[in-house]
Amino acid sequence: NRDYRMAVFGASNVGKSSLLLRFIEGRFRETYIPTIEDVYRKTICCNEGGCSMLITDTTGAYQFPAMQRLWMTKGHAFIFVFSVIRKQSLEELVPIYEELCEIKDNLSEVPIILVGNKSDKDCREISEEEGLEMAKKWNCAYLETSAKNNHNVTEIFQRILDMETRRQLSF
Ligand code: GDP
Ligand code: MG
Repeated sequence: NRDYRMAVFGASNVGKSSLLLRFIEGRFRETYIPTIEDVYRKTICCNEGGCSMLITDTTGAYQFPAMQRLWMTKGHAFIFVFSVIRKQSLEELVPIYEELCEIKDNLSEVPIILVGNKSDKDCREISEEEGLEMAKKWNCAYLETSAKNNHNVTEIFQRILDMETRRQLSF
């Protein structure tokens, strides 16, 4: 099984589903639709032949800790999303990151990207410097995005593929 599995984590309402909708379907919607759990598939290239990128969109509510652990165990790469207009959404990523640290014993080989979404808004609670500081602490990549304006969305996935050292992956 050559699937490359990614999971998207983050608080409710930060734009996880919107980033995936933008990436997979090139669309944006203003209305909020709570996610139970969705899996998206996209074909990519791999040095071992073609493979599928499987991206799990998790619910931000974490009333399913067993599912969260399962996706951490099975996932090859992780996207941690917060909203730059809500400080609390960055704080809510801390226990998720800590859990991932416990589950992965090869964390330094695991591509992780911290994403500050809703960068199109000017009512910020988190500056780019603060986002970068957290990414440095977690030794992961950092990008500021807007699902609404399609800013840096494909770049999230490109950065993940670039960071993967265990196999060669590309779009
Ligand atoms: P999720 O709960 O993390 O999956 O969040 P959603 O993707 O459902 O988005 C929550 C709300 O934020 C929706 O009303 C979206 O339209 C809005 N939203 C998502 N991304 C952006 C963005 O980049 N900019 C702006 N201004 N709004 C966004
Ligand atoms: Mg969602």
